[in-house]
Amino acid sequence: MQTFHQIAHPDKRHRVEFGCDNEGHWSYEIADQVRKRWRKRPSPNASFLSYAAALVDAQSSVHWIANAVEPHSWHVELLRGHTFRFEEHSAQFGDHDHCVSCMLKLTSAADTEHCGFVTRFDRPDGSGSWQWNWVCSRCFNGLRELLQWRIEEPL
Ligand SMILES: [Zn+2]
Repeated sequence: MQTFHQIAHPDKRHRVEFGCDNEGHWSYEIADQVRKRWRKRPSPNASFLSYAAALVDAQSSVHWIANAVEPHSWHVELLRGHTFRFEEHSAQFGDHDHCVSCMLKLTSAADTEHCGFVTRFDRPDGSGSWQWNWVCSRCFNGLRELLQWRIEEPL
């Protein structure tokens, strides 16, 4: 497993490490510090289709994770490592969307914000369904580095 991201408990004595192998299988490892040494918990021998799916599974056994992803929200953390496209909001996306981070409304109407960064988000519930998720330009620029976001180059 190649480490992609690590989330630490605020007390620094517990951590969850997420990674991906060469075939794109995601997994995670939970470790606890006991007498100054890190002990890995026997890992659930599971692999996941995405970072978000591994994250959601880890959260079901390590509840503190959802509160340890500050300063951004859990919904933003689910998009870590995603590739985005800069787009103008239009009817093909529906009537309107909101920035996942600050909830700013994006529509095609002239008097509102109408451009932002969009990515396809596969719901991590195993249903196979997906949705477009939007991040406004301001949030994108502020969070890009922290969340390992990339921008899809035009063809
Ligand atoms: Zn925003």
